[in-house]
Amino acid sequence: MPEIFKSPAFVISGQDLGESDRLITFYSMARGKVRGIAKGAKRSRRRFVNALEPFTMLNLSLALPRTTGLNRIDSTEILDNFPLLRHKVECYIMASLCCELVNLWTKENDPQEDLFKLLRWYLNSLNDGFHPRKTTLFFKTLLLALAGYAPDFDQCLLCKKPPMGDHVIFKLHAGGFICSECRKSGEKTHKISLGTLKSLRHIQNGPLDNFHRLTMTDAVLEEAWSLMKSLHCHHLERVPASYVAVNGLKLEIGK
Ligand SMILES: [Zn+2]
Repeated sequence: MPEIFKSPAFVISGQDLGESDRLITFYSMARGKVRGIAKGAKRSRRRFVNALEPFTMLNLSLALPRTTGLNRIDSTEILDNFPLLRHKVECYIMASLCCELVNLWTKENDPQEDLFKLLRWYLNSLNDGFHPRKTTLFFKTLLLALAGYAPDFDQCLLCKKPPMGDHVIFKLHAGGFICSECRKSGEKTHKISLGTLKSLRHIQNGPLDNFHRLTMTDAVLEEAWSLMKSLHCHHLERVPASYVAVNGLKLEIGK
């Protein structure tokens, strides 16, 4: 008998494998990212009755290979499929982006319980109808911190003083900002308002329960969104594919 691994897990991605199988990537509570083959899933959807759709939370049971090779999905029991977020295009696209980011940021068999909890909080929040873009910004800010790249929003990189004036200049590679006093004239890249800096500091320091009470103007949300996107892309050294759909969404809304 193969060894069986059981854990609550989220489906974060899936791809076809050969004629009839699918290879599914999960984020599990017990082992972090794990992958498993869904035998026959491409031929018959009945075998896994929608359990392998993106973002589904399930009780996963994986049969581990005795020597080398891939895990096989033994059984699945759906815990929550977040039905409401599936009916809103914006929520679906945002959730796809966050699952792609989790996939890009994590290694297999490297569990982070806080990341599992963050993902559960995020999908629940979208499903409960909270503002998709704002909730996604919260998620991305905390994910970056869990990945070990939390920027310093508290003090200037050079003079170590708290931010003053209207704006600071954010330095992506240094993970911090330069205050208006220290900044050389003419520097215009990643000019960030103090309001945005404060909001991001507030989000980064948590706790999750208080987030939905945080009010942000549209300008602050857009500036924070753009900075977080730049930080993720900079550290990952790529632009996650889901941003194409996210950008398309913005155009739709802007019409
Ligand atoms: Zn300074």
